[in-house]
Amino acid sequence: MKKLLLLLALPLLSQAQTTPDAIKEKAAKIHEKALTIDTHADVPINMMKEGFDVSVEHDYAKDGSQIDFPRMKKGGMDGMFFAVYLGQGKRSPEANAEAKKKALAIFDKIHEAVKLHPEMAGIATTPKDAYRLQKEGKRAVFIGMENGWPVNNDLANLKLYYDLGLRYITLSHSANNDIADSSTDPDGPEWNGLSPFGEQVVKEMNRLGMMVDISHVSDSTFYDVIKLTKVPVIASHSSCRALCDVPRNMTDDMIKTLAKNGGVIQINFVPGFVKKPSMQQELSMKAIRLKLRQTDLSPEDKKALFEEMKANAKKYESDMPTIQDAVNHIEHVIKLTSVDHVGIGMDLDGGGKVIGLDDVSDIGVITEELVRRGYSAKDIEKIWGGNIMRVLAAVEKGKSI
Ligand SMILES: [Zn+2]
Repeated sequence: MKKLLLLLALPLLSQAQTTPDAIKEKAAKIHEKALTIDTHADVPINMMKEGFDVSVEHDYAKDGSQIDFPRMKKGGMDGMFFAVYLGQGKRSPEANAEAKKKALAIFDKIHEAVKLHPEMAGIATTPKDAYRLQKEGKRAVFIGMENGWPVNNDLANLKLYYDLGLRYITLSHSANNDIADSSTDPDGPEWNGLSPFGEQVVKEMNRLGMMVDISHVSDSTFYDVIKLTKVPVIASHSSCRALCDVPRNMTDDMIKTLAKNGGVIQINFVPGFVKKPSMQQELSMKAIRLKLRQTDLSPEDKKALFEEMKANAKKYESDMPTIQDAVNHIEHVIKLTSVDHVGIGMDLDGGGKVIGLDDVSDIGVITEELVRRGYSAKDIEKIWGGNIMRVLAAVEKGKSI
């Protein structure tokens, strides 16, 4: 009799678990417990602007900013890699030295913000730090560098940055540099992969215990890095070319090769890398993104730009990717390899945004979508932070200094 009752109750039970409310509830529990890490946050671009305070909650609808400590907490985002980003400029000794100076100023700003708010956040350089800060209810601020330009052709600078807390370098940005070819340089390849200096950079990063980030680099650079590295590497913010055919994304072969290396691809939420935009949309977004990256914008400029962005988003609304489209990229990597080689690097404050996710306080929707697709708590913990922390630990362990 008992058995029969149980059998009768089963369909009801499973139905209850798949109602929207039940999914939300289950996802909230998983989200709360998981260590959530995003590997590419461009919030330092805002922090370097006059008047932006990362400890104060901002409103995306008003100023378009997507990250600050209060909203990270609200969204259950435990840690992010704050990007020391410099767009590639002239490659002269003077310009390179200037890039180093600017990078050091960004490091200072990040350290200062954390020092001013020890009750909200702490600097993290190891998985241990991240798990400890999570327990303390504080945000973990990791530091990554987007573009190896500030390395300034001197390997000694890698140790300098490592000591300032740097744990990854994206070898190039949108243009070739003295380290490697980019995937998007309008002039095409220059080194056919890594330069001779770039090879030294990868070796030194391995030796120091700093992750090599292959987002933005050309396919040949990626394969050169894989041949050379002794430890797993990461793509801090890249998506899948099979789903969105742009050179900035990774091919299936690259993703499989990365998995064999033990590395991880962290899915990027920039609309143009999630879903291929129409040519017109692409051009208008590119123009806005370039303007956004300027650091000398007045409040009026910022407001005007944000309005332009909103109008643009409205105009191309049907082209915009959704949270489901973004999660399709996560699922693609899992199907191609396993759940051990994918994570999240949304590129917030750098163009990352999909329908359903405006800012960092919205990230619970990713967990909900993963639960809806039947992923277990264990899988979701790996995607959200377990995988990237595994790679960081391996890189740390592989160091030989
Ligand atoms: Zn980027």
